[in-house]
Amino acid sequence: MADPHVCQRCALLGPTCCCLEPGSEQGCFPLSETERDRILEALPGEAGAFAREANGPAFVANMKALFPGEEELVARLFPERGFHMRLAVDGRGRCRLLGPRGCVLPREARPHYCRLFPLWPVGRSIQVFAAERCLAWREGRGMRRLLVLLDTTEKSVRELHGRLRLAWGLPPERGLPGAQPPTQAGEKQ
Ligand code: SF4
Ligand code: SF4
Repeated sequence: MADPHVCQRCALLGPTCCCLEPGSEQGCFPLSETERDRILEALPGEAGAFAREANGPAFVANMKALFPGEEELVARLFPERGFHMRLAVDGRGRCRLLGPRGCVLPREARPHYCRLFPLWPVGRSIQVFAAERCLAWREGRGMRRLLVLLDTTEKSVRELHGRLRLAWGLPPERGLPGAQPPTQAGEKQ
């Protein structure tokens, strides 16, 4: 059965996927302007929830690892000496939108990456990130139950992944044409 509170329960137990190791912020996933705007629509006045970050080596390496076989495109989208936007974190590495009972955003306003986590399609399979820290994975004990607990399906995960790819400037599926580089807010500042 789906558990809409599994991430809230995870937040009560300790660090979740919404927390970074202090000092590792550079590796955080990027945020598109569209995703930022959706957050601000849901929570006007949360301008402090975002940070400008350089396209540093750790970030670019993470991005290339997320999209194997598309390294050249990733390098063009996130060039050296460029910048991207990410979620801001506090001194303990906690996302500024993380409340005591989990994310303060309604689900549909969360960044695509947050909505996908811990799932990530790779070819025909679906990978699970940070399984040891994820309460949903520990309770689900397998992909089928994990999808049910998170109230999603493999089809939904793939659709959401396609939207994330588009938001970040990649085609919705590897090899398809039509993607435009995202406008990174950081480049405008
Ligand atoms: S936006 Fe919400 S789900 Fe995403 S990292 Fe922040 S608190 Fe977590
Ligand atoms: S996705 Fe997993 S790690 Fe992230 S808050 Fe939910 S249960 Fe915790």
